[in-house]
Amino acid sequence: MSKLLDTPIEYLKGIGPAKGKSLRKDLNINTFGDLIEHFPFRYIDKTVILPINQINDAHSEVQIKGKLMRFSQEGAGRAKRLKATIHDGTGSIDLIWFQGASWMQNILDQGKTYLVYGKLQKFRNRYSIPHPEIEVISNLANAAALPTLAPMYPSTDSLRKKKLDGKGFRKLTKALIDQIGPNDVPETLPKYILDKTRLIGRLEAIKRIHFPASAKEKEQAVNRLKFEELFFAQLRAVHRKFKNYREIPGYRFEIIGDKFNQYFHDILSFELTGAQKRVLKEIRSDLKVGRHMNRLLQGDVGSGKTVVALMCILMAIDNGYQACMIAPTEILAMQHFVGMVDDAEKLGLQIAFLAGSVKGKKRAKILEALALGQIDILIGTHAVLEDPVVFKNLGLAITDEQHRFGVKQRSKLWRKSKPNPPHILVMTATPIPRTLSMAFYGDLDVSKIDEMPPGRQPVETVHFSESKRLRVYGIMREAIAKGRQVYVVFPMIEENEDLDLQNLQRGFDLLSNEFPRPEFDISVVHGKMKAKDKDYEMQRFVEKKTQIMVATTVIEVGVNVPNATLMIIENANRFGLSQLHQLRGRVGRGGGHSMCILITGFKLSKEAKFRIKTMTETNDGFVIAEADLKLRGPGDMEGTRQSGDLNLKLASLVEDEKILAFARKLAILIIEKDPKLEHSENDLLRKHIQTIGKKAQGWSHIS
Ligand code: ADP
Ligand code: MG
Repeated sequence: MSKLLDTPIEYLKGIGPAKGKSLRKDLNINTFGDLIEHFPFRYIDKTVILPINQINDAHSEVQIKGKLMRFSQEGAGRAKRLKATIHDGTGSIDLIWFQGASWMQNILDQGKTYLVYGKLQKFRNRYSIPHPEIEVISNLANAAALPTLAPMYPSTDSLRKKKLDGKGFRKLTKALIDQIGPNDVPETLPKYILDKTRLIGRLEAIKRIHFPASAKEKEQAVNRLKFEELFFAQLRAVHRKFKNYREIPGYRFEIIGDKFNQYFHDILSFELTGAQKRVLKEIRSDLKVGRHMNRLLQGDVGSGKTVVALMCILMAIDNGYQACMIAPTEILAMQHFVGMVDDAEKLGLQIAFLAGSVKGKKRAKILEALALGQIDILIGTHAVLEDPVVFKNLGLAITDEQHRFGVKQRSKLWRKSKPNPPHILVMTATPIPRTLSMAFYGDLDVSKIDEMPPGRQPVETVHFSESKRLRVYGIMREAIAKGRQVYVVFPMIEENEDLDLQNLQRGFDLLSNEFPRPEFDISVVHGKMKAKDKDYEMQRFVEKKTQIMVATTVIEVGVNVPNATLMIIENANRFGLSQLHQLRGRVGRGGGHSMCILITGFKLSKEAKFRIKTMTETNDGFVIAEADLKLRGPGDMEGTRQSGDLNLKLASLVEDEKILAFARKLAILIIEKDPKLEHSENDLLRKHIQTIGKKAQGWSHIS
């Protein structure tokens, strides 16, 4: 980027230290360049003006034009406010300022005509507009020169107080945009791509996205920038993937040996599904060729990923390597450990568990044995990634529920083995919509378990309001009478922890009354408990000593108690869709009829209703994941896109699936022809991904 765009934001005329500090803090705008890339999240069409008498409840925001008639200061102290009334010949409406009242009174003139834009508020059947954007019409006299679409920028309360509202940003950005030229905003796409895609140039796009002369110009600008964003992300991912193929050798697991065969023939108690067999073959073909494996294993909750993982571990061991498996929580890791311990023993293998709670001598012993190669399988949490944990020869690392692992952690795994990185298998239970998996895992090969073990019946899902609690108790009683077990799950979020804990406690008390000892017994597990106590309670449930498990979302992922057939989710409206799906996946594992009851109050938001409805209508994880993405994806608060890790400024994984798919296809085509991007026609591409690469952290030792 040019010197100009590298200039610290404080130096921009009209900003200065105070505003600069807020811009840095609130919006991560540190330089002129960042401001240029602070894109509008929508536009107001300056040509659409609503007559005041036509305003109704269907409008949330309006643009009106009228004469400013009357000022009045109202209230006192903190409630002090300025009211101004606008007339447009059809009616009148009040504009209200709670802050900066005297300033506004200074700059506004009675009798002049203004263009007013803002959010409507209704009080005692009269509309008003608090803190509107307001411009005197004489300033707009030269209307032809002005854009008809005025950009609206994401902002925050504290910035708005410093006059960095829509209008403020517009002014700053306009001044900056007028200064920039092709040297400041160099093209990133080679001509052949511009020709092929008919996209407009980068500088043009940047100018037009802020100040489009028409809706068409806006579209062109947005398309160009969205494409660029998605294309380079894909180009990097595909580039990395090809580079791995070419350059990163992997341990060669040549044989299918005794342990694998013994497990498959003598220990495994069920027939693998076709999907499990296919996936194992895919993995096997990666592992035997001496190339590094970097593979994502996708499969809905309950599809049987664990057994696949174990069989991969056995492949590693049969070829003389150690293997590890990492889960995001201690409970989950422990469960994998417990689930494998018997099989390991039968196979004569050494298996160990490592998590934060494993300390002192015990830990030291494990670390020593691990380094000496006396441990074949290590199961654990993030603790496995820590530096003192040294393997003798780690050949395979599996992570369960990868979405909770950051890129950094994934890269730590790579360094756990020399000379090659261990083969990596990433397992995820949440079905990932196609776009997400392209976007997040573009550099991984993907295997899918798309078939459930036989005999599974879909879980019947019903929605009950709190008033039907007695009926819920009845259903619980029935299940327990049949020897089945029940989960009762309460929400728990950090911001609300104390209250949530109280709710859980109250729920537990109610249940203890309803299902008293000694006839019944209840386990309780929540995030605030010590790991030891959690495990104890879990274990009692696993051993059927308790019939009911009251828990927070700690059981969300992975817990496997096939005898549990009833899942009750309290305050179900507070859970996200994929969370609900995960929770429901805890039942319906043993064959036979299972049920999931979603309990909520009467009043539900539109979104919550949609989530509950989706859950009661489908068991298909992919349908649910797509719905979830639709709900959360564009759920941007005032234009701030929640794209998390991906850092997408413009593109949306929901709306721009087509652009993404196209970008990926093109990226693959280019890399296939020119894997190292050495051809001169790809100079721009190579340079730009190097620039991006330098900015991105954590990947350096991978790519
Ligand atoms: P997830 O994919 O959610 O991790 P699990 O691996 O925990 O699923 O498997 C869910 C349950 O299904 C376990 O009880 C497991 O033993 C069982 N299971 C896995 N594969 C099969 C199969 N092919 N036939 C029957 N049961 C299976
Ligand atoms: Mg699992």
